[in-house]
Amino acid sequence: MDEQNNIAKTYDPKQVEDRLYKEWMEKDYFHPVIDKNKKPYTIVIPPPNITGQLHMGHALDNTMQDILIRLKRMQGYCTLWVPGTDHASIATEAKIVEAMSKEGLTKEMIGREKYLEKAWDWKKHYGGRIVEQLKKLGSSCDWKRERFTLDEGLSEAVNEVFIRLYKKGLIYRGERIINWCPKCATSISDAEVEFEEKEGNFWHLKYQVKDSNEFIIVATTRPETMLGDTAVAVHPQDERYKHLVGKMVILPLMNREIPIIADEYVEKDFGTGAVKITPAHDPNDFEVGLRHNLQQIRVMNDDATMNELAKQYEGMDRYEARKQIIEDLKNLDLLVKIEGHTHNVGTCYRCSTVIEPIISKQWFVHMKPLAEPAIEVVKNGTVKFVPDRFSKIYFNWMENIQDWCISRQLWWGHRIPAYYCQNCGNMMVGKDMPDICPNCGSSKIEQDPDTLDTWFSSALWPFSTLGWPKQTEDLKYFYPTDVLVTAADIIFFWVARMIFSGMEHMGKEPFKYVFIHSIVRDAQGRKMSKSLGNGIDPLEIIDQYGTDALRFALTIGNTPGNDIRFSTDKVESSRNFANKVWNASRFVLMNFDENIDFSKIDTGKFTVADKWILSRVNSVIREVTDNMEKFELGIALQKIYEFIWEEFCDWYIELVKPRLYDRESETRLEAQYVLNYVLSASMKLLHPYMPFITEEIYQHLIKEDTSIMISKWPEYREEYNFQTEEKNMQLIMDAIRNIRNIRAEMNVPPSRKAKVIFVAAGSQERNILIEGKSFFERMVGASEVLIQTDKQGIPSDAVATVIAGVEIFLPLEDLIDIEKEIERLEKEKENLRKELKRVNDKLGNEGFVAKAPAKVIDEEKAKQSNYQEMYDKVVERLSGFKR
Ligand SMILES: [Zn+2]
Ligand SMILES: [Zn+2]
Repeated sequence: MDEQNNIAKTYDPKQVEDRLYKEWMEKDYFHPVIDKNKKPYTIVIPPPNITGQLHMGHALDNTMQDILIRLKRMQGYCTLWVPGTDHASIATEAKIVEAMSKEGLTKEMIGREKYLEKAWDWKKHYGGRIVEQLKKLGSSCDWKRERFTLDEGLSEAVNEVFIRLYKKGLIYRGERIINWCPKCATSISDAEVEFEEKEGNFWHLKYQVKDSNEFIIVATTRPETMLGDTAVAVHPQDERYKHLVGKMVILPLMNREIPIIADEYVEKDFGTGAVKITPAHDPNDFEVGLRHNLQQIRVMNDDATMNELAKQYEGMDRYEARKQIIEDLKNLDLLVKIEGHTHNVGTCYRCSTVIEPIISKQWFVHMKPLAEPAIEVVKNGTVKFVPDRFSKIYFNWMENIQDWCISRQLWWGHRIPAYYCQNCGNMMVGKDMPDICPNCGSSKIEQDPDTLDTWFSSALWPFSTLGWPKQTEDLKYFYPTDVLVTAADIIFFWVARMIFSGMEHMGKEPFKYVFIHSIVRDAQGRKMSKSLGNGIDPLEIIDQYGTDALRFALTIGNTPGNDIRFSTDKVESSRNFANKVWNASRFVLMNFDENIDFSKIDTGKFTVADKWILSRVNSVIREVTDNMEKFELGIALQKIYEFIWEEFCDWYIELVKPRLYDRESETRLEAQYVLNYVLSASMKLLHPYMPFITEEIYQHLIKEDTSIMISKWPEYREEYNFQTEEKNMQLIMDAIRNIRNIRAEMNVPPSRKAKVIFVAAGSQERNILIEGKSFFERMVGASEVLIQTDKQGIPSDAVATVIAGVEIFLPLEDLIDIEKEIERLEKEKENLRKELKRVNDKLGNEGFVAKAPAKVIDEEKAKQSNYQEMYDKVVERLSGFKR
């Protein structure tokens, strides 16, 4: 068995990680073969954007998934972790357009086809980068099943869904208010709008009632939209305005007549109780407009400049127009007042430009009927959020859901499968473009130029990646998946949409659990961000400390849903732990013999220490498995860490050393067996967290499997349940700890031996102590161990300590040399006396006290009381000896 002795002196992740990952890949360990005798366990990866670079968020997210997958693989499930990437339409298009602009090119200049060629080249170049980085992290994904949201199969799924929902009347094309980003030049969905608090104003404007001297005052935060006003609305029960409903006001600057209408939407008590209605520029006004059949006048272009309907303001940018309009109203004496006001302004999540709510012809998904079953499966517990509090966010969004605008004015993405006859305007929806229009026979047909929201395809990810719409074996076996691991910020974007898509197209929930993990913050608890410059690059950490250390630092002590603080200190202690594990394992392996044969052990020879550690590892296995199944991954790791470091390394290895060193020991083989058993179990428990070092150690142990990652997860073994020995060993260890404390407090050098006298009335305790005799001799330098029922013969100056049911005494003369100690204390007493005199003289000197700053005097006073205290202690100890 020279394997055992070949283990490297120090652990170098660089020598190990890439080699092992390659080996696992070559042996196909990540690639499950469907086995009907096994239960499936499936995770689909949240597909990173092809534009992505691995950041701490990815590192955490994928570490969590890998921990769960590795656990379940070892538990005997047929585990599949589906990897892949997202085409990320808006993010990718923004990057490509930016790169092109450096060459002086625009999309329009090169045309759709050439542009898409460029985009695919770009994908080829950058799309693989994030995948390689995920591999660096140790992710045990089935790379043979890797998917891309724009690949052929997934595009087919997207078309299928679009056509099905269209036929059911759940997808429609219509004019509605959407969120328009003037910079990205596309619509974006509600979920993609980020709200920022901004300083703004309420401008109070005066509209004159036609043929009257009366005015109505309305307030607005976006005065430029007044050019598109088509009514003024008041509440039907508002006495102040009852006589005006049905009359007209003159819209200033435009000199248009617009009606005064009554609508319950208006809040009587807010502002003046009258509001301007701009159906083409505000979602609420749009609804009011529909109810009252109002005209929709859109006064802005797509680039947020004013259009011809804004008449004299045509061509001005929206903010330039705002200034001019205010100026003009002021001159007409129609500006009543300007009121400062902080409000939430919607901005584009991609480029931070202020969003313009604007009427536009787009494609929408009718959400209400799709949301209902998706709400139900979470309500009835079929899909569970972990921690549960995140289900509130989900319900809040789903119960107030608005129709989803799915068309984007972008080219990189799934093109909408709708076609328009250029002759008669007939619209056709289908997989392929029809040759002729069935309505008029014309062959002049063009496809809708828009593409679908990127989340339209990722919503299908849990089943499209398994082959849907084809009824593949993978789909039948692996769907529904088990858990989705993600951060809270994409509950609306993605989680909600996957749930309703799964319910609609598969008739079944896409996953059983949604595990929401923490956000990685810096050491001070701040979010990692580019602007703060406090981001830590996970690849640099891997390069410096190894993947295992990174994964450990990201997981240890976390509780689900709580943010974690990440620092290099944490990674350093993780690496120290790895080194400790390595050194302990190396020690164990160095003490294995050639041709070691555990079939020859005699379990009757297990000592109290053996039984204690076997019993302890049993409990740890049970607790850790339980924690991990409840997604308490950080708590489980904390327990594994404490068990390995304290109980296994610091105690058990120390306790068995004499049996290892003594080749003639009758229980040497049993000690080796227990070391191997406990170390193997510990490495298996630790494997999901630190896959590399555990595999490397496992390869040197006496093992049943070729690799730790396909070995059996440790299980509780009743024959190793030794409750009594566990308690007995606890008593022995308590005694050792207490004696060590006394020796440390009294500065007793380790080489100095001292007698230990135990006094225990109970025979049970006495028997335990007899069993522990050899440990006391070795571990606390006991020259002699006496176990008695009373205090007879114990010197009165013996130092005492107490544990449950036992008093422990150490004779003073054994601990220290009394003559020398008295001499030393006398010297110390003299020194302290001199110091005290010096400081007393100083403080007694009136000149010094009068001149010295208060701070100096305080310092001297502190010295004085310190010396006095030390002096008193020395005197007390001396008098103790003299007695
Ligand atoms: Zn934008
Ligand atoms: Zn036609």
